[in-house]
Amino acid sequence: LKKQIPGSYILKGHLSDGLSVSVHANINILKDAEDALREGAEGIGLYRSEFPFILKNDFLSEEQQFRLYRSIVGIQNGKPIILRTADIGGDKLLQGRSESESNPFLGVRGIRFSLANLEMFRDQIRAMLRAGYGADLGIMLPMVSGVEEILQARQEVELCIRQLEARGEPFNAHPKIGAMIELPSAAMSVRELAGVTDFLSIGSNDLIMYLLAVDRTNENLSHLYRSHHPTVLRLLSSIIKEAVDEGRDISVCGDIASDPQLIPVLVGMGIRKLSVSPSQVENVKKRLLQFTHEETLQICREILEVRRLEDMDEFMKSLKLRYP
Ligand code: PEP
Ligand code: MG
Repeated sequence: LKKQIPGSYILKGHLSDGLSVSVHANINILKDAEDALREGAEGIGLYRSEFPFILKNDFLSEEQQFRLYRSIVGIQNGKPIILRTADIGGDKLLQGRSESESNPFLGVRGIRFSLANLEMFRDQIRAMLRAGYGADLGIMLPMVSGVEEILQARQEVELCIRQLEARGEPFNAHPKIGAMIELPSAAMSVRELAGVTDFLSIGSNDLIMYLLAVDRTNENLSHLYRSHHPTVLRLLSSIIKEAVDEGRDISVCGDIASDPQLIPVLVGMGIRKLSVSPSQVENVKKRLLQFTHEETLQICREILEVRRLEDMDEFMKSLKLRYP
């Protein structure tokens, strides 16, 4: 069946009782956008715009970015699309543009880099606004630690809008502005962030790293990088609850969004949108179909009772047996 109707045989993500949980794609390069469409992604939940910068090892001009982003928007053909501003820094450095730092993951990364390189940031925002003309466009900020960075970024978006108006070019004057929740400080101020954003997305890859103080790129520590850690799950539950209470659109775009054991947990916590790599879209849709809403709520209640890592390992094994 898959071969006959590629990617489209489950049109929209939903549970077995019909509750809808949309499945979007994370993309890094242009080709991923085509894969996302073919695999049946309901939109782009995360475009990692730093990738072309890293490939070129330098900034791209506004025009170069505009052409690239416009191609992605064209491929999506009306589906919602979230472009993330460049997450440069950490392990993604640009020669001659990035400072040498002793702790790059705690350094000038993501929104900090953009706000320290305003001309580059403005080029990128203008390119995104122009590419998003006529599209359902979200602009997402990475590595946000609090409200102040969002307010500063919003001022820059306003400035770019005025500049494009003056130029008389077509552009999207009403993009949604969102933030990644991937720092513990952001995770603990969701209500405040909800007050200054249109949407939020949990970047669990970094959130787990910063919460557990385990470098996600250090193979010697991979046994300590635990997405099933009770503390991680308790924090996820609190982030999602606060966002839902505030009526703010919240998704998960870190790798846990395609973890078969965590999918029902996230849905039970209130998540209605997952964003995963294109190759995982169909698996995630299939996994969702294994649960009713009541079952996800029950799994969620049970898992939040588990307080120790060893008990969590047991719980995960039993969950795998119950829902293979
Ligand atoms: C994350 O941190 O979970 C995330 C999606 O962003 P990236 O993997 O690009 O850091
Ligand atoms: Mg991240």
